[in-house]
Amino acid sequence: MKDRCIHFTGIQHDACLKHVNYIDLAGESEFGSALRIPCTGRTGAGVQQCPHYQVPTAEEVAAYEAECDAYMEKVKTVLKVVDVWRKKLPIGKEEVIECPACNGQLHLSQSNWNGHIRAACETAGCVKWME
Ligand SMILES: [Zn+2]
Repeated sequence: MKDRCIHFTGIQHDACLKHVNYIDLAGESEFGSALRIPCTGRTGAGVQQCPHYQVPTAEEVAAYEAECDAYMEKVKTVLKVVDVWRKKLPIGKEEVIECPACNGQLHLSQSNWNGHIRAACETAGCVKWME
């Protein structure tokens, strides 16, 4: 996070927030282009320079880390309930329960093949994951 450019949107997108096309920036061919862009803090031979590369401030990094920590606390709270729910029969069930993190509606579904859980709370910013 601390070396990642604040304009980076991910290589699943064509360009960053400054409209720099990742493949154009990497040069050569599309193959291996992610290894030749500096956006994630990569340095070294073959890595291109970008005039818009800008790392977040220490305050932005701290805020991001606090947000991640808060999210993980919500996940831990919800997992305590989901770990009990997953053992109820039958395997492969679906249910909407009260979210233990926010008291909203938590949608749970379980694969009847491997028992993995997909969880999504209706509350914006609350938990959502797929195992
Ligand atoms: Zn919730």
